[in-house]
Amino acid sequence: MSGPSATDAYVALGSNLGDSRATFAGAIEALGALPGSRLTGRSRIYRTPPWGRTDQPDFLNAVVRLHTSLAPHVLLDALMAIERRFGRMRDGERWGPRTLDLDLLHMDSTALDDSRLTLPHPRVAERAFVLLPLADLAPDLVLPGQGRVGDLLQLVDAGGCEPID
Ligand code: ATP
Ligand code: CA
Ligand code: CA
Repeated sequence: MSGPSATDAYVALGSNLGDSRATFAGAIEALGALPGSRLTGRSRIYRTPPWGRTDQPDFLNAVVRLHTSLAPHVLLDALMAIERRFGRMRDGERWGPRTLDLDLLHMDSTALDDSRLTLPHPRVAERAFVLLPLADLAPDLVLPGQGRVGDLLQLVDAGGCEPID
């Protein structure tokens, strides 16, 4: 359920440890079951080369859209709780292997930059593994400060990224 103040939120999923497909299925179900929220779209799932640290297995990546009345920081807390439920360990090392990473990419009409949350997510424009699935759902979405998703996708190297479903 979602009330009149509800908005669209785009959430990126990533995984390269464990049974990533099963993790995605469970995590997407959990996202759709969040209070005040319903799932309104999901991308294809892509296999993508690792980014940031290349000495680790390929990732699976996807994006879902939620219609939600949750406030941005409440949604972030909920995403981190789902990560933990699916075995995410935070050992202080960024961009390393993980069972589940859930990033909040964008919420309509929301710009934020504080110690816990930056919206839109600041690294969307440089990441084919985010832009490809996001373009499945919302090619015409304009990310404030970055640009239109379909245009941004033309500017990145999507080599090695393949849909698997
Ligand atoms: P990246 O943010 O470059 O994709 P990462 O996903 O590996 O890196 P994490 O270790 O999962 O990084 O998260 C680090 C911190 O990023 C979190 O503690 C969270 O507070 C913060 N953060 C800031 N903006 C966002 C956002 N839009 N979505 C998710 N986390 C965010
Ligand atoms: Ca991430
Ligand atoms: Ca993250």
